[in-house]
Amino acid sequence: MDRQFLEELERITGDGRLLRHEPMSRHTTFQVGGEADVFVRPDEENLSRITGLCARHGVEYHIIGNGSNLLVGDGGIRGVVIGMTGMPSRLLAKGTLVTAGAGMPLAKTAAFAAEQGLCGMEFAAGIPGSVGGAVVMNAGAYGGEIKDILEKVVVLGADGRRQELGAAELELGYRRSCIPERHLIVLEAVFRLASGDPREIQAKIADLRDRRRDRQPLEYPSAGSTFKRPEGYFAGKLIMDAGFKGCSVGGAQVSEKHCGFIVNRGGATAQDIRALMRKVADGVEAHSGVRLEPEIKMIGEFPE
Ligand SMILES: Cc1cc2nc3c(=O)[nH]c(=O)nc-3n(C[C@H](O)[C@H](O)[C@H](O)COP(=O)(O)OP(=O)(O)OC[C@H]3O[C@@H](n4cnc5c(N)ncnc54)[C@H](O)[C@@H]3O)c2cc1C
Repeated sequence: MDRQFLEELERITGDGRLLRHEPMSRHTTFQVGGEADVFVRPDEENLSRITGLCARHGVEYHIIGNGSNLLVGDGGIRGVVIGMTGMPSRLLAKGTLVTAGAGMPLAKTAAFAAEQGLCGMEFAAGIPGSVGGAVVMNAGAYGGEIKDILEKVVVLGADGRRQELGAAELELGYRRSCIPERHLIVLEAVFRLASGDPREIQAKIADLRDRRRDRQPLEYPSAGSTFKRPEGYFAGKLIMDAGFKGCSVGGAQVSEKHCGFIVNRGGATAQDIRALMRKVADGVEAHSGVRLEPEIKMIGEFPE
């Protein structure tokens, strides 16, 4: 990364919005991860100028939302990390449509919908991601998923142009979309909800929140479910049946409360977490013949 690139980037981003050697442990819910060469939180206007600059200089960039589904390697991230949560975020309702900026917390969006007497988004109230990250991951819980309620998105294309895409164009599937492979950046999402009784909606949100609190190890840093749910099984049960409840590598542990979560019990490195994931996946395969696939995304450098 040469000086000219950095000077230009600093000019675009403005004072205080560019951080060098930024520990990614500050930007991930696992609270692990080495340093990003450069971390920026642009506003929408600057975003396309930054991606354009990176393209011209051959510098890689990585988009992150709230970092709640990420395991960043201890070696950090080369290039530029673009954090989307600093964007000035819109949140508005028109009829049964709710529009939210990509950096807006999903939980806040669901709470806003509830206040407007709009139902359908209750499942999302306890998911700690941003709207953009939730669309990319087709986040879901308790029988609902983003795919059920997403009408359309506004994205920034690899060519630097804004465009609108209908939900059907995003190939939303189980915890996936085609957004990363098409190098799109979500700027805004529009959800189609339905009218409902605000009190009933609030009650459903409160019930789901209580169920999460009872069953999930929310007291420790994690990235939610470590593995995808294999068809016909539950990852947590497979892990428990294979005897991994409470199993640790360094500071990483298979949660004793919910085996589907690997938690950071304090001082875990990305290497600890990755080694534990491998150990669990191998052990479960040997025990049940089912290979678990990671749900969390691994980015950056993982020195052996
Ligand atoms: C305690 C806990 C509970 C959880 N429960 C659930 C659950 O019930 N259901 C569930 O589905 N998930 C759950 N998760 C996982 C996580 O919250 C979701 O996957 C969430 O949607 C990720 O959003 P994020 O903003 O944190 O994305 P990040 O983790 O920052 O990024 C995820 C991916 O999205 C990309 N991305 C993020 N924003 C954008 C954007 N604007 N444009 C383009 N690409 C973008 C990133 O590049 C990355 O590939 C949980 C996590 C935790 C810690």
